[in-house]
Amino acid sequence: MTNEELWKNVLNEMELSLSRANFTTWFKNTSIISSNDTTILVSVPNGFAKEWLENKFNKPIFQIIRNFSPNVREIKYTIGGLNLAEKIQSSDFAQFMAERPSQDEQVDVEVNKLNNLNKKYTFDSFVIGSNNELAYAASIAITKNLGKAYNPLFVYGGVGLGKTHLLQSVGNKIFSDNKDAKILYIPAEKLTVDIVESLKNRTIEELKQRYAKLDMLIIDDIQFISGKEKTQDIVFSTFNELYSQNKQIILSSDRPPSAIPALEERLRSRFEGGMIADIGIPDFETRLAILKLKSKQKEFDIDDQSLSYIATNIQRNVRELEGALNRIFAFSQIYNKIPDFKEVKKLLSAYLSTPFKKTTHQAILKSVADFYNVSINDIIKRSRKKEVVRPRQVCMFLLREETKYSFPEIGAKLGNRDHSTIIHGYEKIKLEEDADQRTKQELTLIKERIYQTFDS
Ligand code: ADP
Ligand code: MG
Repeated sequence: MTNEELWKNVLNEMELSLSRANFTTWFKNTSIISSNDTTILVSVPNGFAKEWLENKFNKPIFQIIRNFSPNVREIKYTIGGLNLAEKIQSSDFAQFMAERPSQDEQVDVEVNKLNNLNKKYTFDSFVIGSNNELAYAASIAITKNLGKAYNPLFVYGGVGLGKTHLLQSVGNKIFSDNKDAKILYIPAEKLTVDIVESLKNRTIEELKQRYAKLDMLIIDDIQFISGKEKTQDIVFSTFNELYSQNKQIILSSDRPPSAIPALEERLRSRFEGGMIADIGIPDFETRLAILKLKSKQKEFDIDDQSLSYIATNIQRNVRELEGALNRIFAFSQIYNKIPDFKEVKKLLSAYLSTPFKKTTHQAILKSVADFYNVSINDIIKRSRKKEVVRPRQVCMFLLREETKYSFPEIGAKLGNRDHSTIIHGYEKIKLEEDADQRTKQELTLIKERIYQTFDS
């Protein structure tokens, strides 16, 4: 029996057990692209279909195939949409079939719960270029003379240019030199929420005392306190308290203090009282060096020509630069093959044409609901059913990451939930994304779906 005939049999039988819509969704454009005695490789059009065939339909498909080919032990699914699978020559087939690295391999959660420092952000993993030289030098100076070199240090620059990385590196360096140092890293948005909660629960004095005991306070994205009077009050008194004791304060923002609207004058002048350093857009050499470092960290053996190509085409944002590399890395893992230059070009153009910024919250809700096979209504409603709790949290996470909505806005879109619920959900999935390969993969697949939905 040829592969084609075999697959036809599978399709015929699956069609009988599924609704028409379901059948077309999952089995359209599928085929067997190769097989040996024990393994069959099925090509599917996208990652979404791959996930479903693997997880929901593998068992019945397997049973049908075994009726015809009793020696088959395993069915593998591969995304054929980019035409890479077909290119893999038969001599590579055995290697391709070899076990991929285990997907559920757990890595240590890298964020310290006490100080919010993420171990992955270090000076060692930070590439120095003319765009960030000054901010880098000031950060190093701080680690050598805490509270006395520059206080505060105010770092500003556009999104995805390395502010958080640099601030966290200072924290990690101090912490690794002295495990007793009392450090706190906090995004201003989270600080604002904490302050609002503390005022509500009448625990604001405790919060202030906790902050007053710190050796170093790092507030990220301070522009967020714009217009928030209560928060500005607390930041002001905390600032004075720490400053008078020569304790280090570091701040970051997407713009200089003078450009933050609705910021009290007394705070602005405090922020301007130390060292102000900006981070700009990295030049080509720096972008290339960043790509080289990141691929080395992943042990991803991609060639220099490909890296130059990526560095040439993504210029304004290091996060996006890294995002493109991660995408290409993910593909290389799926295919167990390092893409060559031609393939990188293709992958990159696919990556660059995804309309990242344009996704809507409807597309996110729909994609998550489809993926987990629950209804949008259930996600929004106050149902505590276990099967909707996680999809709902994934929505919170993706709404936050893929759109510009604030936590309260996301709460409003998700059935008027409180922002603290949203933050909780967001943080839970965020941690899982870092620690659990399985979650990471799910999120990638859902995102693929989100941007496909938007396209059509
Ligand atoms: P920001 O806080 O300015 O929005 P991030 O610090 O989150 O930016 O940086 C975005 C991503 O780019 C992070 O993964 C970070 O590690 C990486 N990155 C930015 N600048 C550099 C750099 N100079 N060297 C290495 N990685 C960098
Ligand atoms: Mg940041």
